Amino acid sequence: MAGWAKHLAGIKGVVLDISGVLYDSGGEGGGVPIPGSIEAVKKIKTSGLKLRFCTNETQATREKFVEKLQRLGFDIAVNEVTAPAPAACLILKERNLRPHLLVHDDVIPEFADVDKANPNCVVVGDAADNFSYKNLNETFRVLIGLENPVLISLGKGRYYKETDGLKLDVGVYMKALEYACDIQAEVVGKPAKMFFQSALREMGVEPHQAIMIGDDIVNDVGGAQQCGMKALQVRTGKYRPCDEQHPKVKADGYVDNLAEAVDVILKQLCE
Ligand SMILES: [Mg+2]
Repeated sequence: MAGWAKHLAGIKGVVLDISGVLYDSGGEGGGVPIPGSIEAVKKIKTSGLKLRFCTNETQATREKFVEKLQRLGFDIAVNEVTAPAPAACLILKERNLRPHLLVHDDVIPEFADVDKANPNCVVVGDAADNFSYKNLNETFRVLIGLENPVLISLGKGRYYKETDGLKLDVGVYMKALEYACDIQAEVVGKPAKMFFQSALREMGVEPHQAIMIGDDIVNDVGGAQQCGMKALQVRTGKYRPCDEQHPKVKADGYVDNLAEAVDVILKQLCE
């Protein structure tokens, strides 16, 4: 039994990151499942533990993203997923914000009901090929021209891993806009505390009763711990061995993959 497992007493809910934990994205079919993950999700669902998926994915609408995961074989539904774009739409409406969008084409439908005329804020997501100089500069001009520049960033990841290698994530471009305009972005998505809290609320579980499993030492593990949750890092996806010596974040445990994490958690529940 892994040493960290003894800290699992009272765990009632599991929060799963998706990319790098369930599957690696990229390639023709949109990605490949990480071995053992499809079964691991099924095991959590039959265990009686509450389950929530918590992703920073913003290259597709939540519906399309879930469809892809279902096609790959995962037992997952749209109403089980906490994602940045729907959360950002709530904030925009609450604060009467009209965004200029610098996002991936495939996530634009998520903002269909949001007024985008005469923008009074900027929303930046993982825009991938839309992060051209032209688009970044246009976004910069909108932002610096605002009386009160509001920059909302859908996550702040540095990089993620696709099947053909590491890719720059939204955080890099968020930082560029922050630097250019001398402002601080508001992050919607991991590691923001509010984002984890909304996932926990959906599960009806208190932070100390929940465990996060992710491949990002800062945004998944660090963010969840800041919120009062336990957190494991998987050695899949963007994991690098140096993560285990991270100067600021120490996971409650490190596991080879989701399958191992779930086996240890379930074994502990039976003790
Ligand atoms: Mg991930």
